Amino acid sequence: GAPGEPILEVQGLVKHFGGLRAVDGVDFTVRRGEIHALIGPNGSGKTTVINLLSGVYVPTAGSIRFLGEPIVGLRPNRIARRGLTRTFQNIRLFRELTVWENVLVGSQRAGGGEAEVRERALAAIEFVGLQDRVHEVVKSLPYGHQKLVELARTLAGEPQLLLLDEPAAGLNQTEKQELVALLRRLHGMGLTMLVVEHDMSIVAQLADTITVLNFGRKIAEGHPAQVLHDPVVVEAYLGN
Ligand code: ADP
Repeated sequence: GAPGEPILEVQGLVKHFGGLRAVDGVDFTVRRGEIHALIGPNGSGKTTVINLLSGVYVPTAGSIRFLGEPIVGLRPNRIARRGLTRTFQNIRLFRELTVWENVLVGSQRAGGGEAEVRERALAAIEFVGLQDRVHEVVKSLPYGHQKLVELARTLAGEPQLLLLDEPAAGLNQTEKQELVALLRRLHGMGLTMLVVEHDMSIVAQLADTITVLNFGRKIAEGHPAQVLHDPVVVEAYLGN
């Protein structure tokens, strides 16, 4: 597909939990090649949106089109196989297995023969810089490295759209800057990303477009330079 074409189209997205309107009529479009950030104060509905996009929750109302096809109602693994994959706020890996075994699982999702699956896994591990730790068990790695394993696992599955749920959470300043560099490289390679992130310095460094939520509704959208100084956005954060 061409850069700039819509890859994910979200319209009128609603999710109620009992009487609570966690997501209350949200529209946004992610375009091919961009890094699109979803931000907002705690409780504004960001995680719920990610869970709706990845099929963990079914929306109360609204439509989600990925690569032109509706995906509402598909199970998470079917959505992932179509090329919409995610990382989790709290890493979800096979902790007792090695880096290699974990990334291999992600690589199998993209199909192909055994040699191809292994080649993709190795390339993803090298991309995140963990080639010297392939045979280590995940639980023995420092937290920052575990996050890189999770990223490598999703990359090995060759996503069309990568959802990153708070990729910088729990990282130190050095690791954060390494993450920014990695995500910039992926951006340069044309990968499309939707990122939920609390660290505004990272959002400002990375995002092409920002969508801001507050109380389940979109309150602002646009380029970082405009959005991060928008009084409506500043007030939403201060009021939280
Ligand atoms: P954010 O990620 O922006 O912090 P969330 O999407 O986690 O916000 O939460 C939005 C609102 O929905 C909050 O009020 C939260 O308490 C509520 N919520 C989220 N998940 C559930 C759930 N599974 N059941 C009930 N309420 C939920």
